[in-house]
Amino acid sequence: MAALTGRVAAFFGPGKRMEIREYPVPDPEPGAIVLRTTLANICGSDLHQWRGEFDVEKFGRPYPQILGHEMTGRIFRLRAGVTHDSAGEPLREGDRVVFRYFYPCGSCRACLKRVARACPNARTYLKKSCDHPPHFYGAFGEYYYVRPRAAVFRVPEALTDEMIAGVNCALAQVVGGLQLAGLRVGESLVVQGAGGLGVYACAVAKEMGAGLVIAIDGIPERLALAKGFGADVLLDLRELRTPEERVERVRALTGGWGADVVAELAGHPRVCPEGLRMLGRTGRYLEIGNINPGLTFDLDPSLLIFGNVTVHGMVYYEAEHLAQALHLIARTQTKYPWARVLSHKFPLAQINEAFQTADQGQVTRAAITF
Ligand SMILES: [Zn+2]
Ligand SMILES: [Zn+2]
Repeated sequence: MAALTGRVAAFFGPGKRMEIREYPVPDPEPGAIVLRTTLANICGSDLHQWRGEFDVEKFGRPYPQILGHEMTGRIFRLRAGVTHDSAGEPLREGDRVVFRYFYPCGSCRACLKRVARACPNARTYLKKSCDHPPHFYGAFGEYYYVRPRAAVFRVPEALTDEMIAGVNCALAQVVGGLQLAGLRVGESLVVQGAGGLGVYACAVAKEMGAGLVIAIDGIPERLALAKGFGADVLLDLRELRTPEERVERVRALTGGWGADVVAELAGHPRVCPEGLRMLGRTGRYLEIGNINPGLTFDLDPSLLIFGNVTVHGMVYYEAEHLAQALHLIARTQTKYPWARVLSHKFPLAQINEAFQTADQGQVTRAAITF
């Protein structure tokens, strides 16, 4: 019998077309799971890598690579020894799951402090090209190899793939981020950028008890979606054209005080100076979007001092945030348009077109179907 194979989109570097390749589907090692991918989103981080703003090769990942990490799938092969998910629920082949796409080591200083997101050994991808087994370690493939010791949660059947595909990156990230920034009941939040993370942040903040959520973007569809996700006020970049106007508006909306939390989810350093100036005293700036080393902005540090302002940087999240994110969707599945974050869908064979469309920024999330 011929070995079972699966297709992937192989990435050879920025500016080059991805190519469809086919590899044998691996048998999971003890503790591992092989998923059949059902939906994989193009996250902003994937776009940074595709454009070359984030250098994949420099981070120790030789080409070809499979991009992608924001996804869901069904358990295809389960190894003896994997019987339950991270919440103690039984796992079987065929179950739909969300999982943490990075693997903290459990024994470094960060892991010992229980800040697993800061683990220097928590590599998302492997240090080999996808030509090497187990091949399937990016989202844009028909299968995905979940390595041992992953945080995995079974998905309730009532939730659709479209609702949960963004849980293991964007949603868990803002669930963790807004808690890190210490958002409290009644406080105000400004969301810079109403893409996938931005619209999720609106709903998460409302569910955490935020008193005022202000979303900033320049694309009408994104602003409308932010409203659907609970934003109280929308600031349209086409109307408020300068940073000064936007800062002034945020001050006016917060009774002259300024925002309690500003979340940078736009992914460009040009928004940082105005975001910092939107903060009131004791405000917290949450930096999640700017993952590209070398892109900078000018900072007047006296703003931090006289405002008693805190800047929180955050990459990745804790396993509990993934569980909280899944629970949040299950609890509010009719309250917010969770499935509508996916605005465009493309089959795997059209992945190049999918990236081009996502690159134009007119979409909240483009997804690959299998
Ligand atoms: Zn992501
Ligand atoms: Zn560690």
